[in-house]
Amino acid sequence: MRGFYAPAVTLQSSKPGETLGIRRYSVCTSAPAGCHADPVESEPLALHCHIAAGISDTASMIPLSSSDLASLTDLRRDLHAHPELAFEEHRTAERVAAWLADLGLEVSPGWAGTGVVGVLGAGNSGRCIGLRADMDALPIDELNHFPHRSRHPGKMHACGHDGHTAMLLAAATLMARSASFDGTVVFIFQPAEEADGGARAMIEQGLLERYAIRSVYGLHNWPGLPAGHFAVHAGAAMAGTDQFRIMLQGQAAHAAMPHQGRDPVLAACALVQALQSIVARRIDPLDAAVLSVTRVHAGTAYNVIPELAELGGTVRTLSPTTQGQVRRALEELCEGTARGYGLEVDLDYRPGYPPTINDSAEAARCAAVAERLVGAERVHRHLPPSMGAEDFAYFLQERPGCYVWLGNGETDGDCRLHNPRYDFNDALLPIGAAYWHALAHACLPQQS
Ligand SMILES: [Zn+2]
Ligand SMILES: [Zn+2]
Repeated sequence: MRGFYAPAVTLQSSKPGETLGIRRYSVCTSAPAGCHADPVESEPLALHCHIAAGISDTASMIPLSSSDLASLTDLRRDLHAHPELAFEEHRTAERVAAWLADLGLEVSPGWAGTGVVGVLGAGNSGRCIGLRADMDALPIDELNHFPHRSRHPGKMHACGHDGHTAMLLAAATLMARSASFDGTVVFIFQPAEEADGGARAMIEQGLLERYAIRSVYGLHNWPGLPAGHFAVHAGAAMAGTDQFRIMLQGQAAHAAMPHQGRDPVLAACALVQALQSIVARRIDPLDAAVLSVTRVHAGTAYNVIPELAELGGTVRTLSPTTQGQVRRALEELCEGTARGYGLEVDLDYRPGYPPTINDSAEAARCAAVAERLVGAERVHRHLPPSMGAEDFAYFLQERPGCYVWLGNGETDGDCRLHNPRYDFNDALLPIGAAYWHALAHACLPQQS
């Protein structure tokens, strides 16, 4: 069974009553195969994009032909069918590099192994911005049954990075044809967002200095947010994520003679409870933090008090300050609990992706660009941040910038991030491309 509806994705001008472009899509809402979108009509094959306020008052038309959209959709689905995990994105990188080369861009492959950079300059300005897409997939068995489902067991584009890559290539296509900005746009296709921090690896290789990138921008599709809507956060958009592993060492003993040993199981149980007091009693209630213990391992027999107990889990915070507070409290509780139970403790605390914190001025710029594209009523400036994490945070630690969410539409059919029935909504391809195009022109206006 496949249920369909046909919403119109409408791009609004800033001028009242003027519609910029409409495309209709048929979206499967109830198919057991999962969720996906198919273009079924191609009414106006041009996006009339009104460039951001304060930059230019002239409306411009961005050509995106039906064959462009067909090619981009094919590309997106081809990437979906051939998912590659972190730092293994060789085929994806080859397709990206070939596409950029066909456009005539300067192409630089091999960043962080499988990362690809495309460079497009126009005018005389030395200004340079970076637009970033991620390319990696997840270790998930796909449960969809549509023709472009993953051909590789245990690998799936369940986060829409196939769509992010296609949208940025669509933007490069638009900009290569109408480079009416003044400066340089660096298209960054990074590996390994889901694991191991491909963004950090590219930064450590000198990406930002190599191209003198002054500001950076990211975009992620967002299931549950209506298709074509944007969400822009003026500060934290995503959480920082840390991992911890706690080893409690006691002294093994017969279970019937506990006084002859030191029981790490009892201490581990007490510590799991105590750790929940950190968020409840050590962190400002108006601040956000999560501490979850997700691993508890100890013992092998019914009648033996083991020598070791292991706990593990994750910490999520929205600011470096809170991150530090949680870590210090965790260290104190580990030491205090171990001392109280007569045990030794070893805490392995590993900071992961930092919080993704947008620059407020850049967020305002991006929101204004999005409003010009889709209308103010479709741009959400006050949604709460997500406690998920994102390695674009590393770019934002180095340069001002902004990471926005683009609505992927309904979550019917379990169309949620990291779900085995997820699929990127192809209706977003022209919208994301138009956003990138308009943002580049807003950042790099021609000098009059
Ligand atoms: Zn993801
Ligand atoms: Zn993602």
